This record gives sequence, C-alpha cells and structure tokens, in this order.
Amino acid sequence: MRTLRGTPASAGVARGPWVRVERAREPEGRSIDPRQADGERTRLAEAAERAARELEELGRRVTEDGHPDEGAIFEAQAQMAVDPALTSLAEQAIDERHVDAVAAVLDAGRDLAEQLRGLGDELLSARAADVRDVALRVARRAFGMPDPVPPRLEVPSVVVAEDLPPSVTATLPRDRLLGFALESGSATAHAAILARAYGIPAVVGVAGLLGSLAPGDLALDGGTGEVFIDPDAATLADLDVRITRSRDAEALARREASLPAVTIDGVEVTLLANIGTPEEAPRAVELGAHGVGLFRTEFLFLERAAEPSEDEQAAAYLRAVRAFAPYPVTIRLLDVGGDKPIPYLPIAPEANPFLGVRALRLAATDPGIFLTQLRATMRAAAGGPVKVMAPMVADAGDAETLLSLAAQARAELESRGEPFGEIDLGVMLEIPGAILVGDSYFPRLSFASLGTNDLLQYTLAVDRGNPALARYQDSLHPALLRLVHEAVERAAGAGIELSVCGEMAGDPVAAVALVGLGIRKLSMASGSLPGVRRAVRGIEERRAREEALAALDDGSAVQVRSRLSPLLAGVGAA
Ligand code: PEP
Ligand code: MG
Repeated sequence: MRTLRGTPASAGVARGPWVRVERAREPEGRSIDPRQADGERTRLAEAAERAARELEELGRRVTEDGHPDEGAIFEAQAQMAVDPALTSLAEQAIDERHVDAVAAVLDAGRDLAEQLRGLGDELLSARAADVRDVALRVARRAFGMPDPVPPRLEVPSVVVAEDLPPSVTATLPRDRLLGFALESGSATAHAAILARAYGIPAVVGVAGLLGSLAPGDLALDGGTGEVFIDPDAATLADLDVRITRSRDAEALARREASLPAVTIDGVEVTLLANIGTPEEAPRAVELGAHGVGLFRTEFLFLERAAEPSEDEQAAAYLRAVRAFAPYPVTIRLLDVGGDKPIPYLPIAPEANPFLGVRALRLAATDPGIFLTQLRATMRAAAGGPVKVMAPMVADAGDAETLLSLAAQARAELESRGEPFGEIDLGVMLEIPGAILVGDSYFPRLSFASLGTNDLLQYTLAVDRGNPALARYQDSLHPALLRLVHEAVERAAGAGIELSVCGEMAGDPVAAVALVGLGIRKLSMASGSLPGVRRAVRGIEERRAREEALAALDDGSAVQVRSRLSPLLAGVGAA
C-alpha cells in the first residue's frame, strides 16, 4: 500500500478499482506560406464559432440536467472560444509566426493559460485549465478531428488523471463514478466544483499520483485529501469507520437543524449561511440556515474572460433568493482588487494590493460594474427579500457612494420598465476606522455586517493568507472584541441591524463571545452551523455576557480563549 496526500476537493470516501483517463491527444499544427494566412484566419474563425456553439449546447444540457451553475461553466467556455483574448492572439501567431490555425490556437491557449497562472491567484490559475480545454476544442475543429470518446467505466470505479477538463468531467458516467483523484488541479478548479456539485468525493493536486499507480483498488478521502493505492485491510477497515462516522455526524446535524438557536436563558440568535454560489443553497437550507448573511459574488466575475451580463447575474442571484425565501439573502457587491485581478477590469499593479484599489474603491473609475450588479440584485429582489452590502467601506463618503449608485441603478430599471423589488442597503465593517466613525453614516443604512477576517487583518497588520503569522490569526484578540463592542453600541444607537459574517461567527467559542457582546445574527460556512447551534443552545447569555465583557480587558487571544472555552465544556460544539 502507498499513501499520498493532495488537496481535499469534495468530501466523502470512495474506494474501488481505478481507471486512468489520459489527456486528450492534440492535433498537429504545421507551418504555412504567408499567402495562406487569410485562409487560416477564416478556418480559425469558423472553428471557434463551432466550438462555441457546441459548448453552449453542452451548457444547456447540463443546466437542463438540474445543474445550472455547472452549465454556466460551459457557457463561459463558449464565450472564451470566441473571445478576442484567445482569437487575436491566435491570429497574431498566424500572421507573425506563419503557422496554421491549429498550431496558432494551441499556442495562444498555452500562452493565455501561462499568463493566468503567472498572476499568482488560485482562482485564476484554476481557469488556466479551462483556457487550454477550449483552445484544444477549437484546434480539433480546425483540424477536423473528432472529440475523444468519453472514458467508459465498465464497473463502478475511481478515476485518476493528470487533470480533468470540465468537458470530460461532465461526460463521465455519474452512476459508475465513485470518485476521482487528480495529479494537478486545485480546490477551485472546475473539476473540483463539479465534483462538489454532484457529491462525488475528490482529491486534487496529488503529487506523484500517476507514477505511483499499482494493481489493486484505490481509495480516497475527499475530506482529508488522502489517497491510498492498493489499501491494506487495516486501512479499509479504518475507511469503513470514517464512512460510518461521517454518516452519523451528518444524520445528527440534520436532526438538529430544525432546533431553534436559543440560549438556555431564552435569547434567540439567527443563524445564517455564507455561500459562494447558488449551488450551495440547498445544503445550507438543510442545515437550518435562516437566510444568507454573505453571498460572495466573485465566482461570477473571476471565472471568465468577460464581465457577466446583468441577465446572467440576476438569474444567479434569483436562484439563491428562491432557495431561501421567505428568509433574506444578503448579496455582497464585487470584492476584487489587486490581490484578485480580473482580466477585463484592468487595475494597475500595486505594491500593497490589500491596501489598494479593492472592492468598492473600484467604483471611482468603474462605476458601471457596480451599477450592473445593483440592477441585477434589484431584479432578483422581485423573487424574495434581498439585502445588498458593499465591502471595504471606510467612511461616510463610501456609504454615500453606495447609496447614490443604488439610486442610479433603481432609476435605470424604472426608466426601462423592468420589474424589480426593493433592497435593503448595508455595509461590511472590515476596516477599523469605518467602525470608529460609524455613527456618522449608520443612520442612512439599514444594516451592517462585521467582516472579521479583514477586520483582524487590518487591526493587527497581519496578512490573512500568511501561514507564518498563524499566532496572530485568532479573531478572539481583545482588540477585535473591543471593535465588535464598539460596532454593537453604534449600530444600536443608530437603530440598524448588525451581524457578523467573518469566519469568527463559525467558531463556537468566538460565537459565545459575539453573543455575549450583543450580536444576534451570525453568518457562517454551512458546515459550521451544527457546532454553533449547539454552542448557542448550550450557554446562558447572561454568563456569556459577563465573560465577554471581562474579556475586553484581556491582553491576548490566548487569554480570551481560555476564559471562554470552559463555557462550552460538555456542549459538544467543537
Ligand atoms: C471578511 O473579511 O470577514 C469577509 C467575510 O469577507 P472575505 O473573507 O470574503 O474577505
Ligand atoms: Mg472581507
């Protein structure tokens, strides 16, 4: 037996015989006489058009199959096939390097993928695989080569591959696909997104996988990232225990999902979900989320070469709104910037992107992208309650920007005669200064939500992604508690609602502190709902308040944690 480790991509345990899926063969390009360039450009344009039509059709089929978000992946690929970012680069190769349409588009795909990888962003690197997938499809069309036959799984099997382009993942026979392990890829690659959507266990980024394959079964744990080649009897027995344990935990979480999140002394707390795609809504509802406290909308913007249309955004938001109605969905306006660049929104390189032109700050030069998004949220509000919040607000001026953009978006819909609903407007509190001057603009809004991930980063000067600073990355730092306390008082003074949507809300011990400080709405990743529900139900608000107020005078997160943890002893919230 050999054990390898990769990135957990889709939870669950799979075991069975393995089937290796080979990378699709590339058609061969050739050099041309410069006089043939015009002909090759035409061939390229026709091939790109055909590929786009096929991908649209594939997207439609997957959508009709009940997976609209996965369908959208292929729609985005269809756009990519005819996107000038790819086609102009290929035309340039035809003209300057005198190669045919096949070689030109393959080279262009490779170059574009390299550029995306070079940006150093995980999501964009994941898109590199899509670009190559699309370029290969266009090249095959230009060459007149048929698509490879989808791998046949004669018996239920685990698939292993270097990488799985989305077009192949979608064609694998789902009833016989037990799970998959990939040598490359990341948790945000489309193969991983599709695996999560279909509930197929998967591990990606398993270094050395293909070189280690051996006869016998293959097992994987998509929750831990472990891959076992030819597992021995002890491992198989251990995997059986894991399967039972995760089934039991799931059954308990479902049973408890309908229990109210009320403290022993009767204080009610609303538990909400953080989601990143509408696809996550059913799971959150199942686990008892009473609405969405944070819908991160970046997935719509980062996965493509062109800005998503208002119609497309409205449809995605509406899907989430319908899934949660009558509970509200809080949509966050686009939060990208120098750290998460997008190809169609040029932002000059910055020395400190986290302190740069990020999120709402982009509105100064690009108000259009926010206006489109606001119109889409208002249209979705016709289907159920919608709240919209702006990230990275620093002061009353930023709140004013949000309000005037929303007023303009509303007026545009009105003049178009488009049906829409009213939305509540709020801000994310993730910059300490925004809390300190909160009383100057809170009265103009209907809510605020503490984004404690960034709030911690900006309060303690700790890069949130730097593992070397782990010691500081605990949101129970008393400075953060003081800011929460401050925000609670100012929000109450202005009569607006205040929630918490950073990771802090999903940590049972931190949730005790938040409830103790007066927070009554907690929004978290769905998987954290069962533990936090148990924590709320296991404490007395009176005790939580005493300890949380005392913690304001502590000197470190370690002290606060050891003060609050005993309150959860025996509650089973961890
Ligand atoms: C936060 O900063 O706490 C937050 C919820 O937003 P994100 O993690 O998306 O920056
Ligand atoms: Mg944030």
